[in-house]
Parts: sequence; structure tokens; C-alpha cells
Amino acid sequence: MQLPVNFGRGRGVSSRIFVVSLGCLLVNAAALDRTTEQGEASIADPDQECAPYDYPPVSSQTNSFPPGWMTASILSSDSAASAKWNSISANIPTNIDPQTQPPSSSYPSDDPACWWTYNQCTTPKLAGLPPDVATVPEPSTLGYGFDDGPNCSHNVFYDFLASQNQKATFYFIGSNVQDYPLEAQRALADGHEICAHTWSHPYMTTLSSEAAFAEIWYSMQMIKLAVGVTVTCWRPPFGDVDDRIRSIANALGLQTIMWEYDTEDASVDGKTITDQTVVDNYNNFISTAGNGTFNSTGVILLTHELNNFTMSEAITYYPQLTSVIQHLVPVGVALNKTQPYVETNFSLPTFAQYIAGTRTTTGSRLSNATTTSSTAPSTSASESPSSSSSPSPAASSNAAFKVTEFSYGPHLLFLLLTLCIFGF
Ligand SMILES: [Zn+2]
Repeated sequence: MQLPVNFGRGRGVSSRIFVVSLGCLLVNAAALDRTTEQGEASIADPDQECAPYDYPPVSSQTNSFPPGWMTASILSSDSAASAKWNSISANIPTNIDPQTQPPSSSYPSDDPACWWTYNQCTTPKLAGLPPDVATVPEPSTLGYGFDDGPNCSHNVFYDFLASQNQKATFYFIGSNVQDYPLEAQRALADGHEICAHTWSHPYMTTLSSEAAFAEIWYSMQMIKLAVGVTVTCWRPPFGDVDDRIRSIANALGLQTIMWEYDTEDASVDGKTITDQTVVDNYNNFISTAGNGTFNSTGVILLTHELNNFTMSEAITYYPQLTSVIQHLVPVGVALNKTQPYVETNFSLPTFAQYIAGTRTTTGSRLSNATTTSSTAPSTSASESPSSSSSPSPAASSNAAFKVTEFSYGPHLLFLLLTLCIFGF
């Protein structure tokens, strides 16, 4: 499904069209506010939303983070990161070597490291580690969530979720948060749950332990800087986790969230995985759910906020998902995890509260952060994925999102925009 493109639908040239269209553009430009979460959330045009902007509370701290989309390492100037690593490193196993990707034939078949990529293992073999969350305990429940955001054109998708009063879990990439901090803020403001999804989206088991730490650490720090919360959950990119990586995440206070079903929506290559593959996967999942497979234990389905296609498919299949699964809830809600962040000023509803209609409790809608502290340059222009199978940077995947919705301004402004949108 592609969302409708309603701009520029001509009905013949007239001076009225020109005047109204020009007025629309001028009013729109004047109304654009790219300094606050609310302002950025009101931008409906994906090209406008994806254009880089400077958000000084984040851009002024660029030197405190690794380069965007590069495998992270602990910065020599970062005493806090070094201290944290030094405090946990003694407990990270040294008898599990970095893995090769894909798994080599020499990896032991008894899967001693509980390597998900090898065998979909989610119950650690290393003592003291909790099992991954790969299902949710509530019957007929989908732990609803999306990886790889924040995507710079996500307002249409988030508007859709808001229109359904639907909350979800978003697994954010630190480099994306750095480029689009106001988009990241919107997730919290809308009452969604945020988890980390590393700094640059690498295969985590291939990294040294210190680099794996840095990948998680800096994604957490960037979410804290941009959004104001310290996350307590993460999802490894590609699901690539083993007990060595789990022990690092666990030492950072993170629950590892996996999945059992995959739409493969982020894996379309036009060859082995096509758009039709994704359609088939959605339909198969929906028929599996319709057969009562999740009537005793809920399920987690892998879907993405990666691009127009993945978000459009999520919108397309939302009605069918809700028709075959009773409850679509953030993973944290399904787990009754009412305090999703280290900070105590934000809480999620319990599962019972959520399904009874209470979709937010405290902490929604951030107050405006200051935007006057610095004019350090943005790093948006330099981003690139770390490998061909990594998600594309958000700015390159804005595709064709266009919508008819504007929510700000006085009545005259509304009238003007409506006339413009409908092509008068
Ligand atoms: Zn991902």
C-alpha cells in the first residue's frame, strides 16, 4: 500500500488555483516549527520532515558521541563510559569469541553460546542471565513494535497510530535519534515505549566486547540526551545476540527483546525477498493467529519503521491484525512493566489498564527543551549505513509519504490549506 498523494492534483489552471496555492505555501512555510516536538510532529510533508534541522541540545553534544553510522568505540574523552565499562567488564565472559557472520561450519552444533543467529536460542546457557523476551505471556496478545526508527518521515505513521489510540514499542537506532531527535521525542510524547537498537546497527556478536558495550551505551546515551529517558530494554539488530552480548546488555540494565515471527519487511531485496514475500508473511501470520495459535500465549512479530513500505504495510494490515488478535499492546505493557525507564516520572499502564482503555498514564508530551544553547553543526549529511544489510538512513527512505492532514492554525489557515490540498 502506498499512502495517497494528494498534492498537485490539477483541475485546470486558474488564477484562483495560483493564488490559493501560493497562499498555502506561504502559510505553511510560516507555520513550520522545527524547534519543538509539537512543531515537528505537525509537519505532514515527508520532504519537509526529512530535511535536516539543527536541534542544539543534541547537536551541541556531537563530540560526545561516535560518528553516526560508524561502529562505536568508547571515546577517549568519555570518562563516564570508561568507568562504566571498567565496572562491568570483569563479568563479561572471555571464553566466547566474537562470531563470524554468517555462522561458520566450525561453530559447535550444541550452540554453547546460545547464539540466536545460529539456532534461535533465547534461553541463555550462561548462569545468571534472564531469558530473552521472545513471546508475551498474555493470551491473544501481540507485543506490537517497530525497529530501526526514528524514521524521518514517520509522522503519517504515528498520526495513524494516534488515530487508533494505538501504542507500540519503538526500537531506536542511536544514529537516527541523533539526526532526528524531535522525531524520537514524538514517540514518548505519543505514549509509546522506547527501547534501544544500538548506535549503528551492526551484527553485535561479531564485535569485541568493548565495541558491543559502546554500541549499546551510546544508543542509550543518545536517547537520554534527545528524549530524556534511560531505556531498560533493547533489541539486537538482526537478532544477532549470544551470551557474551547478553551479559553486556544485562549489565547495562537492559531486557533483551526478540521475536518469533518475522514479516521480513526490512529485508526486501527484490530477489529472494520481494514485496510479495512480505505480503505473504503478513497473511500467513494473520491466518496463524486466526487459527487460535496465540490463544494461550501471546506473540511478538518483527516489523519496522524503516521506510515508506514497511510503515505502509503496517497500516494496511492493522485492521486484520486487530481482527484476529484481541490485544495489540507495547511489549512493556504486555509484561506489566509499568516503569519502562530508569527515571520514575514516566509510567506505562498495566496490561489490564491498557485493555480497559487507559493507554497512557504519566509522562506523555514533553515540555519544550531549550533550543538556544549552541549552533554546533548537525551530523545529518554524513550518515551512511554500516553495511549493505543495515537499514538505510532515514533521510534516504522517506519515499512518497504525503498526507492531507494539518492540525495547527486558526480557521482561516485551515480553509486555505484545505483548498490547496484538494486542488482548488
Ligand atoms: Zn534493525
